[in-house]
Amino acid sequence: MKIYVDFDDCLCETAKAFTKIAARFFQKDVPYEEMHSFNLQESFGLTDDEYQKLMAEGHTDEVLLSYDETPGASRVLNEFIDEGHEVFVITGRPAVAYGASRKWLDEHGLDRAQLYCLNKYGRDFFLKDSEFSLELEDYYKMKFDYAIEDSPLAFKYFDHMPDLKVMVFDRPWNKNAEFPNGNYTRTPDWDKIRQLIRKE
Ligand SMILES: [Mg+2]
Repeated sequence: MKIYVDFDDCLCETAKAFTKIAARFFQKDVPYEEMHSFNLQESFGLTDDEYQKLMAEGHTDEVLLSYDETPGASRVLNEFIDEGHEVFVITGRPAVAYGASRKWLDEHGLDRAQLYCLNKYGRDFFLKDSEFSLELEDYYKMKFDYAIEDSPLAFKYFDHMPDLKVMVFDRPWNKNAEFPNGNYTRTPDWDKIRQLIRKE
């Protein structure tokens, strides 16, 4: 079995860290629960310039390494890896963040998970000429049995896998998202994800 896992807000609490950065840099006090848009610029009401600063700060090695693990992520994924299943972390972070992202995984017991940077969100405007380690055409050659993702913007990358079971990690910005088909399930935490995969 092959499992696709998104990084930010599935494996780690990125948005919560961004609320702290926005408060520190721009005095924007937006509680995590009120982040109704996946677009951080919109959620925090930032100018283009402020948004670039926020994203640059959020992608420094030091900050990337400081993100808290989403409870249970490493435990549940390692259980599946121990049984011989494969875990592919497919992140929308640019390749420049690969080193720190790899290190974070290793430090959180996910050294056996593979890591790929895929340009999911067209975010390269905040770090000019960003490179990604996985090209879309190569991504489309990959096949997965399960996907764990929080961003509705990434759902389109599952369209070529009609049998894929998608678990949407419950976050304030995907509360009203429309699911493309019946293979999508909203999941509140990693124990529920574990349970759903076990039941199949
Ligand atoms: Mg995410």
